[in-house]
Amino acid sequence: MLEAERKQGQFPLLEMSHLLYGGKDYFDKFLERQSFFDNHPLFKVNHNFYNMSRQDQILLNAERTVEALKKLSLADPNYYTPNVLCPQGIFISTVHFAMVIPAFQVLASDEQISKWMTLLKNLNAFGCYAQTELGHGSDVQNLQTVAVFDKQTSEFVIHTPNIEATKFWPGELGLYCEFALVFAQLQVEGKRYGVHPFWIRIRDKETHKPLSGIEIGDIGPKMGYSVKDNGFMSFDHFRAPLDSLLNRYIKVSKDGKVERQGNPKVGYGSMMYMRNILCDQYTKFGGRALTIAIRYSLYRKQFKDDNKQEIRILDYQCQQQKLFPLLAEFYACVFGSVKIKELVNDNFNRISQQNDFSLLGLTHAVLSGAKANYTYFVANCAEWCRLSCGGHGFAHYSGLPVIFFEMSPNITLEGENTILNLQLARYLLKQLQHVVSKPNAVPEFFKFLSLETAKVDDVTTLDNLITLLGLNCSILTKYAAQKLMSHNDMKESWDTKAGIALAKAASTFIPYFNMLCFLDTINNKAKETKEILTVLARIYGITMLLNNMQGLLLKNQINSQQIKTLQDTRESLYPIIRLNALSLVEAQGLSDNSLQSLIAPKDGDVYQNMYNFASKENSLNKQQVHNGINYIQKMREVNAKL
Ligand SMILES: Cc1cc2nc3c(=O)[nH]c(=O)nc-3n(C[C@H](O)[C@H](O)[C@H](O)COP(=O)(O)OP(=O)(O)OC[C@H]3O[C@@H](n4cnc5c(N)ncnc54)[C@H](O)[C@@H]3O)c2cc1C
Repeated sequence: MLEAERKQGQFPLLEMSHLLYGGKDYFDKFLERQSFFDNHPLFKVNHNFYNMSRQDQILLNAERTVEALKKLSLADPNYYTPNVLCPQGIFISTVHFAMVIPAFQVLASDEQISKWMTLLKNLNAFGCYAQTELGHGSDVQNLQTVAVFDKQTSEFVIHTPNIEATKFWPGELGLYCEFALVFAQLQVEGKRYGVHPFWIRIRDKETHKPLSGIEIGDIGPKMGYSVKDNGFMSFDHFRAPLDSLLNRYIKVSKDGKVERQGNPKVGYGSMMYMRNILCDQYTKFGGRALTIAIRYSLYRKQFKDDNKQEIRILDYQCQQQKLFPLLAEFYACVFGSVKIKELVNDNFNRISQQNDFSLLGLTHAVLSGAKANYTYFVANCAEWCRLSCGGHGFAHYSGLPVIFFEMSPNITLEGENTILNLQLARYLLKQLQHVVSKPNAVPEFFKFLSLETAKVDDVTTLDNLITLLGLNCSILTKYAAQKLMSHNDMKESWDTKAGIALAKAASTFIPYFNMLCFLDTINNKAKETKEILTVLARIYGITMLLNNMQGLLLKNQINSQQIKTLQDTRESLYPIIRLNALSLVEAQGLSDNSLQSLIAPKDGDVYQNMYNFASKENSLNKQQVHNGINYIQKMREVNAKL
């Protein structure tokens, strides 16, 4: 049924696939790994997964991790597609590979790296990243776990002084890991040296029981993330050896002398690593949700037209309004993430090879904003795709709820999004000062901050959309700066007076940045590819403006006629996307097994699929008369007495 739709696509599919994956090699590798999952019996879609107990889900996930490891390098972030393909549960080793090892690489000394790295990589030292506590997460400087140096024995005494200081949330802590990278307040001879990482064995090598002086467990069921053993841990004067302190930047000698060395700013490196993965790999979940929703919207028909033919729901303008701006945003975020990856790599190479920190501030700011923007996008996209599929979107067999469940924590973890936007706001304010005092020091991406006004004829061209998005962010940044400065106490003003304005200004930067990346991607492409990408870019730019134009309104930089033009233009572009919608999502090359959806197969009968699952596979139906029926009799008895 969808073949006719496929034929309507007006651009070369393969070129688009290569663009979405960052090149032919990456796309080919993706297909190769996908075929491994498609052909392995353990990775076949199993909709009864959601009928299983959490215990059984965890065990199945463990078995899957072993099989995946046999074939795939789970340690290489370029090949994180296993996670993209397996959201019934994020593999056991994700935190170890994506958080612990990168942190180790950045924070450990050369000797510590040579002692541990092989053990870490082959999982003989399997660890979690234990930073967050019950009482503090975002405010890392106020963590309360202490590591007090004992001069008598040259050891650190790790202690949890109160309930709030209990480590809470680390993934892979609850059940699996034997080691933990514990972040604690270092104290030597009564002096505090701030929060530092300690690499500690926490479970016995033979028995896997927590070591004496440590209490560990799983924190309990969550919204999704059922296979991840997010854990808690507390220490009762637990003794850790001197070299447990990862000491690239701070060293404590046997007799208690503390020496700081190198540039601790490098510590940002490990955070950037995971945030980059969130932008680069996890954004693809938005595309997966869109594939399901767009395919289903082609299968699904509701109500008849004048010729008594039932209408595909994708033909309704309102359905297009739900899905097409998200499709455009998906492309924008993917192209933005390619640029961000380049920026992160460039920054890393400069630091590691030339001790050059010149790109650190810029990279940190852009990555903070992008992590916030892209993770909000994916969760929002998954939810709207689910809603656009009506009742069936609510069922796990649609493959949609799981995307929302597994992706929404990304808004909170690895830097809570509001806090990240506020960090970008700080950078925006700094560049705003530079615009006046040192214009040459302003990086190219932030030159728009000098914009005060813009005269544009046609508000809907790509160039003008970019100008208006930049102007909007510029005005909002200046507005936030004024709010901040209008109170004497800067800190109080930041926290209680200007926070909303600062976060808003920052949230409008990434749409501008994404548009620049979109334009860059469109240039030099084949005619047909260029045409369809231009349509998507315009829809994206218009949507971002319509959703966030407070800055332009504040300074009368846009009028009601122009707003109407924006709305009308966006609507006029939907029919072009309608023709290409299926091809635009299928360019991702996702197999049916990867989609894990009964409502959106490449070809087939979606109703038969759903009926088959309910009538033949749903494990709840295995017992023809369920034990619960006894309770109906009891209910009748209760009612009889009333
Ligand atoms: C699924 C999942 C996995 C996790 N895995 C790990 C792990 O492996 N290791 C680990 O150490 N931790 C982990 N965490 C914890 C996570 O890192 C923290 O939850 C996260 O950093 C947010 O901190 P918080 O919970 O203290 O939120 P809070 O900081 O308490 O935030 C709560 C609210 O307060 C607001 N807020 C707080 N401060 C400010 C401010 N200054 N200005 C404005 N608004 C503010 C926030 O925007 C938010 O709306 C995980 C969490 C989840 C959900």
